[in-house]
Amino acid sequence: MKTLVVAFEKDGRIIPAVYEVIEAAKSLGGELLTAVLAADAEAVAADLAGRGGGKVLAVSNPALAHFNDESYAAALQELISKYKPSAVLSPATLYGKALMGRLAAILEGPMASDVTGLSVDGDKLVATRPSYGGSVVADVTAVSDDAPFFVTVRPKIYSESTEGAGEVIVEMVPDSCFETRARVTDVKVESGGSQNLAEADVIVSAGRGIKGTENVGVVRDLADALSGAFGASRAVVDAGWVPYASQVGQTGKTVNPKLYIAVGISGAIQHLVGMQSSQTIVAINKDKDAPIFNIANYSIVGDLFEIAPALTKKFKQELQN
Ligand SMILES: Cc1cc2nc3c(=O)[nH]c(=O)nc-3n(C[C@H](O)[C@H](O)[C@H](O)COP(=O)(O)OP(=O)(O)OC[C@H]3O[C@@H](n4cnc5c(N)ncnc54)[C@H](O)[C@@H]3O)c2cc1C
Repeated sequence: MKTLVVAFEKDGRIIPAVYEVIEAAKSLGGELLTAVLAADAEAVAADLAGRGGGKVLAVSNPALAHFNDESYAAALQELISKYKPSAVLSPATLYGKALMGRLAAILEGPMASDVTGLSVDGDKLVATRPSYGGSVVADVTAVSDDAPFFVTVRPKIYSESTEGAGEVIVEMVPDSCFETRARVTDVKVESGGSQNLAEADVIVSAGRGIKGTENVGVVRDLADALSGAFGASRAVVDAGWVPYASQVGQTGKTVNPKLYIAVGISGAIQHLVGMQSSQTIVAINKDKDAPIFNIANYSIVGDLFEIAPALTKKFKQELQN
């Protein structure tokens, strides 16, 4: 097995989900490589090498300052062609999903997305992934060795790799990799945006029970008090109360936090498939028969407009003490 992990950085720091993928890759044994592409990749490469990334291939270019599918894929093709990994892994984040799908299509390689487990059978990588909203769990493997097996790993399944002895290798790729049809010139962060849902340890989500956009703050305040991310059901997004980026569920994000608090969410199957693997689920709903209570570890039956502010106040007090 020769595994290549693709790392992503944000604001000069490697995102935590990358270290989870490195931990997953380490568990497979064999040779481990990690590719990091950035305006100044060497600045973050040493951290990757010291945390188990193995041989860290650092590609620096001003054109890599912002994520761009085309240039990232072109540069990675060069590294794949040179090092010939049998598997290429990345976190199942927005960028990871976009990039692995593109590379698998270009190189005609097999792909398994959003996997929750990795193992080795002989010399074959086996990826475990939930299908049909988690009602089927399938072990999938590549049937051909002509191209690497591309895999995205669901965040929050593996712990972060913290140590290792690696080395940094500075790589050059042809300038043609950066001659893309589209260029990202600027990135504007959405105002009021909170943590990335996929990577959050705590998520507090709002459902239609909040009644209107003027009450979004009731749930956001609770998320903030817990230093968590804010999520929402599709009903809330469809009503235009919050942006789509917050949607959890079948047609939104799949999340896997340590704590998920559902506030005024009924628990439709399309919502559950996006959050039911959360470690601890707390539901607040005034209807004692709401389906969300079937999967909740802690059920709070009552009016969210009383309970959510009371919890917010309590958590703020706890944090002050
Ligand atoms: C193809 C398809 C894809 C979909 N994808 C998604 C998806 O990705 N994500 C998603 O979430 N949904 C998705 N849906 C929609 C899904 O079926 C539900 O309609 C949606 O999840 C319902 O959202 P909700 O629970 O917020 O609203 P409701 O089902 O209307 O539930 C509101 C809840 O709030 C409670 N409530 C009301 N007032 C209070 C109060 N004062 N205090 C406490 N509780 C209160 C009510 O008892 C109720 O249980 C999809 C549907 C389809 C068909």
